[in-house]
Amino acid sequence: MFLCSPNNPTGAVATHRQLQDFVEYAIAHQSVIIFDAAYSAYIKDADLPVTIYEVPGAEKCAIKINSFSKTAGFTGVSLGWAVVPKALAVENAPAGKANRLWNRRQSTFFNGASNIVQEDGLAALSPEGRKECRALVEFYMENARIIREGVRKTGLTVYGGDNAPYIWLKLPAGMKSWDFFDRLLNETGVVGTSGSGFGPKDEGYFRLSAFGHSENVEKVVARIESGLKLMEKGAPFPVDREGAPFESAE
Ligand SMILES: *Cc1c(COP(=O)(O)O)cnc(C)c1O
Repeated sequence: MFLCSPNNPTGAVATHRQLQDFVEYAIAHQSVIIFDAAYSAYIKDADLPVTIYEVPGAEKCAIKINSFSKTAGFTGVSLGWAVVPKALAVENAPAGKANRLWNRRQSTFFNGASNIVQEDGLAALSPEGRKECRALVEFYMENARIIREGVRKTGLTVYGGDNAPYIWLKLPAGMKSWDFFDRLLNETGVVGTSGSGFGPKDEGYFRLSAFGHSENVEKVVARIESGLKLMEKGAPFPVDREGAPFESAE
């Protein structure tokens, strides 16, 4: 099973209870859980688990993977890690076998990340590096707060942005994700992610990411606000280019 918490794309975070259900299921059915914790540093709510290993028994059924990408800006540089516990038992193999195979795979086939990238990783893990990484995460989460609260003021239902850098907008009834995408891009110069790009259940929703500069984030929120205010006044939304009520991007 693959679990990603905080989740990309939804931004939702699994509770202890939910993770415990998965762990109990995995142990009962000899399943292995791959737990992707790429966004764990974004969890603000102290009651939420940052790792599946907070659930007793998880070390017998879960592998955790993580990355420097979202916490230290390593996207493109690429460095990550995996936890394959010695207690992990895969199907009928004894506990420890998966750990030994993983070690063999890492040391013989992969040979490790380049020394340059490992030096970067060490810098990111130094006390100074960790402080800077924490500041970076806080900066993005402040962006998330600006987006969440700004868009909420327009009356739209907004989800997320609390424990993950993604904010979801529920579009006004009947509005399609791609129609909103087109309007936002063409009339305000803002790019977001069409919900329906993730699957049919996300039609009518739209995702904004907090990964950006705060000046731009504030502009984005102001543009969404003015666009939606015009809609409330009865302007058709979406409308064609000629009747566009949006101010054009500078
Ligand atoms: C960005 C991301 C990662 C990290 O991938 P890298 O290849 O290390 O950049 C892992 N999982 C999820 C869900 C992500 O969004």
